[in-house]
Amino acid sequence: MIDTLNNPPASTLSTLRLPSRAQVLFRDTNPPTPRQTGLSAIQEPGCEPKTPEPEPEPPPDEPAHTPISHAKFTFPARQSGSITVVTDWIDVSVPLRNGMVHWPGDPPYRIHHVHDQKKGDACTVSQVTMGVHTGTHMDAPLHFIEDAQSIDLMPLDTTVGPARVIAIDHGTSIGRAELEKHQIEPNERLLFKTANSGRLWNKDAFDENFVFIDASGADYLAERAVRMVGVDYLSVGGFRQDAVETHLALLGAGIWVVEGLDLSHVAPGRYEFVCLPLKLVDSDGAPARAILRSVV
Ligand SMILES: [Zn+2]
Repeated sequence: MIDTLNNPPASTLSTLRLPSRAQVLFRDTNPPTPRQTGLSAIQEPGCEPKTPEPEPEPPPDEPAHTPISHAKFTFPARQSGSITVVTDWIDVSVPLRNGMVHWPGDPPYRIHHVHDQKKGDACTVSQVTMGVHTGTHMDAPLHFIEDAQSIDLMPLDTTVGPARVIAIDHGTSIGRAELEKHQIEPNERLLFKTANSGRLWNKDAFDENFVFIDASGADYLAERAVRMVGVDYLSVGGFRQDAVETHLALLGAGIWVVEGLDLSHVAPGRYEFVCLPLKLVDSDGAPARAILRSVV
């Protein structure tokens, strides 16, 4: 399979209609002047203020604001080198918000405004506090192995490229016997869709009974020398069983781990995957945005 992410064809690029920053800021309004917005006061030296152009009307056959996380499998197939892109990008990240679930004992996610235009400040600035293993995130080897690699040292192609979503029917754990059914190849990027995706992400309370990779499954993935694994709740190992063993088997084998994916809108199959953790120096993990699109 040819990895086309670095060389997207013109047909793909032509579908990207990203609004400029100014258009995002002032969507659905007439472009304000710098004087109206006060933006001239925060222009960086050498940056000329730009007059935003009106946002183009969407074509009549497309919905104006389809949420990407709920994209249906109705996009026309597009040829992309030796692969065919079947869907648009699907967001498999969990929204970060106050009150959301977090691992027991970890710091909760919290966002609040330290400056707020609605309170008379010139701009709005948010402060976020969270543990780095909250929501969709990645584990670095350092998470369980002292002096091992931190998250900022992850090679980018670990989590960018072809991937496979595997549906797991087992309601408790992902073990060796379950994995042996799937002809797993070395260097694969694997995302495991379990009952967690449809059951747990709409709950703010932590659920101890999530489906996890048990020690036998982790050992098998290490033997198969896969490149990366992703799971659809907050830990690749269990809450009462194999938390340490599973992490050690995977991270110790050089397999990077994505946790906290929501795969409820994704069918099993072949995808292009992009997941980039924040570049937090010396950190054992980091929040990440994860997206994928189906290919054949
Ligand atoms: Zn983690």
